[in-house]
Amino acid sequence: MESIAPDAEPARLLIRSAQIVDGTSSPAFEGDVLVESGRIAAVSRGPLERDAAAAAPDLPARLRAAEEIDARGLLLTPGFVDVHTHYDGQATWDEMLAPSCWHGVTTIVMGNCGVGFAPVVPGREQTLIEQMEGVEDIPGTALAEGIEWRWETFPEYLDALGERRFMLDVGTQVPHAALRAYVMGERAGEAEPTDAELARMAAIVREGIRAGALGVSTSRILAHRTSRGAEVPGTFAGERELEALARVLGELGTGVFEVVPRGMDGEVSATSHAEIDWMGRVAKAIGRPLTFSLVQTHTEIDRFRLLLGRAQQLQAEGAPIFPQVANRSTGILIGLQSDEHTFSTRATYRKLAQLPLAERVARLRDPATKARILAEPIGPYGHPQSAMVHQGFENLFVLGDRFEMEPSDEDRVAVRAQREGRDPSELVYDLFLENEGRAFLMFPFTNYFRGSLDDVHAMLMHPASVWGLGDGGAHCGVACDAGGPTLMLTHWVRDRTRGPRIPLERAVAMLTSEPAALYGLGDRGRIATGLRADLNLIDHAKLEALMPEMIFDLPAKGRRLMQRARGYRRTIVAGETTIMDDAATGARPGRLLRGAR
Ligand SMILES: [Zn+2]
Repeated sequence: MESIAPDAEPARLLIRSAQIVDGTSSPAFEGDVLVESGRIAAVSRGPLERDAAAAAPDLPARLRAAEEIDARGLLLTPGFVDVHTHYDGQATWDEMLAPSCWHGVTTIVMGNCGVGFAPVVPGREQTLIEQMEGVEDIPGTALAEGIEWRWETFPEYLDALGERRFMLDVGTQVPHAALRAYVMGERAGEAEPTDAELARMAAIVREGIRAGALGVSTSRILAHRTSRGAEVPGTFAGERELEALARVLGELGTGVFEVVPRGMDGEVSATSHAEIDWMGRVAKAIGRPLTFSLVQTHTEIDRFRLLLGRAQQLQAEGAPIFPQVANRSTGILIGLQSDEHTFSTRATYRKLAQLPLAERVARLRDPATKARILAEPIGPYGHPQSAMVHQGFENLFVLGDRFEMEPSDEDRVAVRAQREGRDPSELVYDLFLENEGRAFLMFPFTNYFRGSLDDVHAMLMHPASVWGLGDGGAHCGVACDAGGPTLMLTHWVRDRTRGPRIPLERAVAMLTSEPAALYGLGDRGRIATGLRADLNLIDHAKLEALMPEMIFDLPAKGRRLMQRARGYRRTIVAGETTIMDDAATGARPGRLLRGAR
């Protein structure tokens, strides 16, 4: 495999006879694409030569000069645009931005959910690390060791990112929690800002957007806490404050307001209905897109339908408000490499917990040890929510040999244990030991209350929604949802048997032109002449999201769940091939994105 030097002159590529899905939802067609100087220079149905005379007299010569790729039988899509990630720290030390880079993603937007690393008062960096560690479960030690704090203001943070090279393009947002901590110091967690403080926050948003941030983000749910257990600054911010920040977007005529709304973690419905009306008013008043997280929660599992319907109504009334939905259940993966699992509080297990995995697995296989652990009571654990991790078998699913994102009732540990006439904890014990102790069981938190993804299908197909919520770079120890684009094309388009699938052209639009349009990135997200050559060449029949695995490559040996994919013949960013046959080429054409375009 040819390796491409990072700053090589962008190649002229001629992609022949691909099945082109152009990102607009229009029907796929077979044709050619010519890439020159990082852009799409020509697109044709059938061979480009046929259009040659009409298009440009020098076209035949240019075609001859191009590296030709025979794409017969392969899908060609625009590069995927993942607008909901948390690579804010990782982007300062890592160029690849995995897992997103393995899943056809060519543009990410980070700075979501109110958390990020700028602005920051020098000496108070730890506060922001605790916010990120608590909300997004990115190891604080990795952040502390990995980030070289070379900035104070948001524009300085952008300058630091601007010097870096990536596998994909990186957009940012101004995070409200960091903003509050910067302006209000110790009082950031509770107090209302004074008028002067509020004016200062708005000025910093203005300065950030002017420097190239794509939006501003905030979180209003109680479940988002710092690693010290405090609410994240901004959680209780009043409407006056949020509107002051949002108004900056209206005033500058650019930028997105990203909100994790109150009620999203399952509070009473009155709250979330009032919340969506408020968000609609804000979006309408500023005339800028507002996107908010929407998941199915345990309290009222059909409430998401009402909220989608209300969002559609608000859109019709002129409010650009977009519920952002996931294409999967969100939850955690549990196994022997997890901090908390079915046996992690039991006395005998605790004595073994620190052993390296292979040794631990060997000890756990000993029948006497197994009998002892299974007989022991569950010990005390930290968070009340952890109860389900230690003794919930009804909602715990066996994943099997392949990564199955829609396990059936038969795959519930409780159901399987009953079928086999075994104690569920004993079944879990054996399952944990599979694959040399690397197996995972899945515990969905949201979007899976009916034991299928039918409700997620409804969310994705709703005309008001946009796909997102993959949280790339976050929840390192417990989840790995950034593989959403691959799962969209495998599970949703090709494999699903338990309910309706999603047409290929629709699915590709959800991954490309729709999120690009939301964030004002008009130069990408479609295959059309003149746009950036961000492309995926995919062997759709072979495409597969592989089993997640725990790896230990973060700074300070921090661990993270990683999920790779098979079937990406090429990912092309600005005309350069970054992925060839599922392996990185070494090319780093990605840059910091400054502003909508
Ligand atoms: Zn998030």
